[in-house]
Amino acid sequence: MSCPKCLAKTKQVKDGYTAAGSQRYRCKACGCRYTPNPQDQGYDEEMRQQALVLHLEGLSLRLIGRLLLVNHQTVANWINSYTNYLPPDLPTSILELLALDGDIEDVFALDQE
Ligand SMILES: [Zn+2]
Repeated sequence: MSCPKCLAKTKQVKDGYTAAGSQRYRCKACGCRYTPNPQDQGYDEEMRQQALVLHLEGLSLRLIGRLLLVNHQTVANWINSYTNYLPPDLPTSILELLALDGDIEDVFALDQE
């Protein structure tokens, strides 16, 4: 990782995430902040899958959002459209949980405050 401003290759530290979920960096040489790979979708599949698992464990959307450092509305979107976002090769245990849940929209509705 190198700084886009001063081109330093050292002292590049992770500095949280952008609103879109991309890793942000800070250059400790010149102090600028930058995002090397800005993405629209931003979140990787692992995080979305994690959110779904946590949801199925009974955690609230807000708590999941806090744990994963994303907006709880984003978590809600993932869960509502989990079939679009999650990889097709989910572990069987998760698929069974989803089947047990039946209509996941209902489960989600209970979670809203
Ligand atoms: Zn720099």
